[in-house]
Amino acid sequence: MDSQGAGGLPGGVPRRGFLAAAVAGVATVVLASCTGPEPTPSPTASRTPSATPTPTPEPTLPPGVPAPTAMRRSKWGTDPFARGAFSFDAIGTTPELRQQLARPIGDRVWFAGEACSAEAPGTLRGALATGLAAAQDVARTAEDGERIAVIGAGLAGLAAANQLVDRGFEVVVIEARDRVGGRIHSVADEALTGDADGTVELGALLVGEDAPAVADLLAEASVDTRPVAPPADARTADGTWAPIQPVGFEAIAAARAWAEAWPYDVGLDAALAGSGAGALSTEPDTEGVPGPSPADWLAYTLASDVEPSTGASPRLMSARQAQPTSAWQPASLVRGRLADVIDELAASVDVAVSNVVTRIAYDDRRVSLRMDSGESLRVDRVIVTAPLGVLQTDTIRFSPRLPRAHQHAISVLGMGRLDLVWLRFDDAFWRSDAAPGDPRRDVLTVVGETTTVGAWIDAGGSGDQALLVGIIAAEQARRLEELDDGAFLDEVLASLAPFAAAAPTDAG
Ligand SMILES: Cc1cc2nc3c(=O)[nH]c(=O)nc-3n(C[C@H](O)[C@H](O)[C@H](O)COP(=O)(O)OP(=O)(O)OC[C@H]3O[C@@H](n4cnc5c(N)ncnc54)[C@H](O)[C@@H]3O)c2cc1C
Repeated sequence: MDSQGAGGLPGGVPRRGFLAAAVAGVATVVLASCTGPEPTPSPTASRTPSATPTPTPEPTLPPGVPAPTAMRRSKWGTDPFARGAFSFDAIGTTPELRQQLARPIGDRVWFAGEACSAEAPGTLRGALATGLAAAQDVARTAEDGERIAVIGAGLAGLAAANQLVDRGFEVVVIEARDRVGGRIHSVADEALTGDADGTVELGALLVGEDAPAVADLLAEASVDTRPVAPPADARTADGTWAPIQPVGFEAIAAARAWAEAWPYDVGLDAALAGSGAGALSTEPDTEGVPGPSPADWLAYTLASDVEPSTGASPRLMSARQAQPTSAWQPASLVRGRLADVIDELAASVDVAVSNVVTRIAYDDRRVSLRMDSGESLRVDRVIVTAPLGVLQTDTIRFSPRLPRAHQHAISVLGMGRLDLVWLRFDDAFWRSDAAPGDPRRDVLTVVGETTTVGAWIDAGGSGDQALLVGIIAAEQARRLEELDDGAFLDEVLASLAPFAAAAPTDAG
């Protein structure tokens, strides 16, 4: 890329240039000023706050669960440039709200990113589609040769920037962190992967079969994946496997129908209670046979399906938008480095990293941006891809204030909480009860008990790697982010106890 070539930023700030820098394996540029101060981190922000490198505190081990040899965890809720994992449909949300957020303001300011997607919010698919749609709209509106700024170098921002560069516009991407990718965050970790070049994903890691455009990007960047089958059964506390029952989703469907007839939207838990659909029997389904009850299956559906897919507790999520079908669908688990997709997109655009945009002033002729360094930049149009969680704070001030409809969308939509924990073991103890010829369980879940980790994905693939990634959602994610690594590890290991309970010993 032409890392020097964007020198001479638009008017107002004399002698500003771009300095070439290499960050995270891609050519990027940092904004520099001959006159302004050096960029300084904002007081709350470490620039790469999401990863805790491999510690191995002495854990308290539940019976049968060995000590992990390596661990890594994310903390998206405290990340100042995410403020959560992804958007969810909070009480009062409608799909039109997301479309409203994506509507341009005076043909100068566009929003894009997963929260703007009515079709696939909270996903790579949604981020990509909204980035491309915003770029297309800008290209349709702008005159040849205009300067366009894109705020945020995540998937939406880089996809948009790429398309605008292709169409001949002068584009600069301004990124708060010192790396590109946003909620795509691949980190090198030899201790976890057993490979000097091995990486794990701390953000997005699954690509659904409904996201062919994302799959194409992965293929173009030669990112390795493997299929992941949805769970068909769940582990009971006593260590047996119980086929997943639909009663949880039946209750959600009934609660949703009840909420749709109610004069206003309510939380899913209120709709489950109000409709009576949540009042399920606590007796096992099959007479005389100990096992999960209908009430257990509803709790399971909420903890292992609804919360991991929304990052929200049923108390906060819209009953009218609640999905009455499982979010677990056949998907591909990223085995390579997802950030290669990002690097590929970033290769042909200028990215000014370590620059937090703090103010966006716009009128009917241009847009003026202010950075935390004190620098400012004037462009013709801007696409803002900062996550919803950031838009809900006053990190970026708009002048004039955003139109009421945009403000409404930002305040009503919710920002969900989700964290990942990666654990490596010497042995894959959770596979040891599989009979010869049994298909590998890709997703491990527990019914009949409340566990901290909503679901575990066996990330070891067909090889003998003993690697798990745990999904911690909603209130559990919020609570666990407060814990130090030792207390955190104790809690997540306790969630693995059911998978060790009935595992035969080596001798057995
Ligand atoms: C733990 C986790 C697991 C996930 N799993 C999946 C999955 O399996 N499959 C899936 O499809 N999706 C998944 N997602 C969601 C997916 O990662 C996101 O939907 C997608 O990456 C969002 O892309 P984006 O471009 O909209 O936002 P982002 O990637 O967040 O990009 C926005 C960028 O804006 C920057 N920014 C913020 N504020 C400022 C500012 N003031 N100035 C300048 N820059 C700023 C940020 O640093 C960031 O780089 C997951 C997310 C998380 C957190």
